[in-house]
This record gives sequence, C-alpha cells and structure tokens, in this order.
Amino acid sequence: MSHEAVAARGQAGPGRRDAAPVLHVRGRVLLGDDGETDALWVVGGRVTFTPPRGRRSADVVTLDGWALPGLVDLHCHIGLGPDGPVDRATAHAQARTDRDAGTLLVRDAGSPSDTRWIDEHADLPRVIRAGRHLARPRRYLRGYGRELGAVGELPAAVAEEARRGDGWVKVVADWIDRDLGTDADLTPLWPDDVLAAAVAVAHDAGARVTAHTFATEALPGLLAAGVDCLEHGTGLTREMVDEVARRGVPVVPTLVQVANFAGFAELAGDRFPRYAERMRRMHERRYEHVREMHEAGVRLLLGSDAGGTIAHGRLPDEAAEVARAGVPAADVVAAASWRAREFLGVPGLQEGAPADLVVYPADPREDVRVLAAPDAVVLRGRVVA
Ligand SMILES: [Zn+2]
Repeated sequence: MSHEAVAARGQAGPGRRDAAPVLHVRGRVLLGDDGETDALWVVGGRVTFTPPRGRRSADVVTLDGWALPGLVDLHCHIGLGPDGPVDRATAHAQARTDRDAGTLLVRDAGSPSDTRWIDEHADLPRVIRAGRHLARPRRYLRGYGRELGAVGELPAAVAEEARRGDGWVKVVADWIDRDLGTDADLTPLWPDDVLAAAVAVAHDAGARVTAHTFATEALPGLLAAGVDCLEHGTGLTREMVDEVARRGVPVVPTLVQVANFAGFAELAGDRFPRYAERMRRMHERRYEHVREMHEAGVRLLLGSDAGGTIAHGRLPDEAAEVARAGVPAADVVAAASWRAREFLGVPGLQEGAPADLVVYPADPREDVRVLAAPDAVVLRGRVVA
C-alpha cells in the first residue's frame, strides 16, 4: 500500500456520520523547517488556510497555542507486550496511550500481532507497518519476532513481510550469541551477502528496510546492502557516522531504550563479561554518541521503542532524552514531527491534508518538555484528547 493510501485511509469508523466541527487553530502554527503561520482552520477533517465563510462563531471550536503536525514515533511496537503478542483490547489501549501523548503516526518496528483492524478506528493513530520483525531462534527476544530456521531464508521472508506491511520491513541485525559461552557477545545474525540479497528483494517490492543494530559488526554489511534506516545505531563508529550522514540514512537512537543498557549489562554480569562490558560502554557514551551524530549531520528521527518492556506514550520522554544529549530543541521538535512525516511520505499541515495536529501551551522549540503535556490532540479533524 502506498503512503498516500495510508494517509487517506481510516476515515471510516466510529462517529463517521456526525460532521466534525470546524476548528480554528490560532497562535503559532509550525508548518516545517521554513514555515510557520498564525492560524489554520479544519473543515471536514482537513486543513485549510482560508477562513471558512458564513460560519457562526458558535459552530467553531477555537484552539489557542503552538500547533504542529502530529508527532511521529518511528519505532513503536503496537500489539507487542512483555511476553509477546497481546490481545486487541491491550493493543487498543497501547495505541490510545500513544495518541494521547501526541503521537498520531506510528511506523511500527515489527509486531507479532495483526493490527490491521486499527485502520478502521478513526480515533486511533495511523500505523505504517513493517510486518513481523525478522530474527533467528535464540537470537532475539522470544515470542517477539519471526524466527527463521536458516539464514538463507531471509530474502524470501523479507518478500513476505513486505507484502504484509505498509512499505517497511524490519530486520534484527545483531543480538547476543549465548552459544559462545563466556565469550558471548553481540554478533551479526546474517552474513553480508544474505543481507544484500534481502535488501534488494525489499527494494524490488517497493519496500524499505530498517534494521535493529546495537553492535558495530553488522553495520558495514547493512550499509553496503543499502539499508534505509537504522534503529538504535549505538555501534556506529565515527567513520560510519560520516557515511550515514552522507547517504542520508536516518538513525532512530531510541535513548529511552539505550538507558536500559546498564541494566542489561548488570543482568549479564560475570556470565557474559564481553557483552556486559560493551553494553556498559555504549550506555555511558549514549548522549555523546547522539550529539556526535547530530553534529555530523545525521538525520535523527524519534522512536520510543514502546511495546515489549517500554510503556507506550513515551515519545515526549524520548524527545527530552535527545535534547539532553545536546541536540537543539528546535531540531528535536522537527525530528518528532514534520521531518519524520516527510521521510515517511505522509503530509503535515498542508492545504487539504488530513488534520492531524497537536496544540501546546508554549513553544516546544524553546523547551521540548512542553511536548509532555499537549493542550489538544486533533486526529482526522477531531479533538480526541
Ligand atoms: Zn524495538
């Protein structure tokens, strides 16, 4: 499915029949890196910059503040809980929690549940799916990904997940190999030639590939294969950072998740000292690493890694972490909103676009902590939170 279709879809669903009210959003409306204006209107669920005529003011709901295109979580697992797939009621609650935090567009980073039903719910965020994330037995969290018996199965599995998803496929590229005993460490799951074949298959199918990487070792193969996005990216060396910047491959640093690395190291303890040491080092360097990537010109995008062990609704916390790393607040806001939309091919606040926006009581470009408490969340033209 094209991203246009993803954006257009989901107009049906509960409450479709009663007309959405006209909204007047005023104050500062942030449109993108080069633009802002002082007002927009929402008519029939869509954005317009022309004031509607002949409306009685009683029919218009006014929202004052700083408005921006709905936030985007690039790394979110709706339908995944601590023990694997969750039921519909739980996935529904996850999606609502993300929405109430201002996330109106999610690129899922792999889910063991079929969440296609979410598209029928006008009150839930739009989801661009990556099918099931691809891993190997004993080389990822059990029950989370689709485990392939042989490495050579990856290209065919990528083709299947590309058909299942909405233009993205997620590959787990490295994980601890416990079979190495006391030498256990992060190692790649797939040989480079298999990765190259897998990425080529995805591209032929019109899909993009993102990859989970903690370690350095899987990265040369992924970059050579032409991977389209990197999750976590904690193992990027200085040279790789420059290459990623040059190629425009976005990195989703998931600092809320990387904050857990010290705990992972603790758990691994004396049994897996090499792994523990590496995780500890990456944890210590996390802010410096993200700041270096930003300064090198890497396109950073935001992902909460919610689902599994991380709670939903934490994208504002991720924004705060990226700002804490030293990325200017204005860049963090852009990354969380219009730059991510642009990357995914989903419109922001343009004339005629679906009205997905968030209104804040202050300018989040001055202080990203403002993102934690929106005054209003508008999805498909309706105030939903
Ligand atoms: Zn994840």
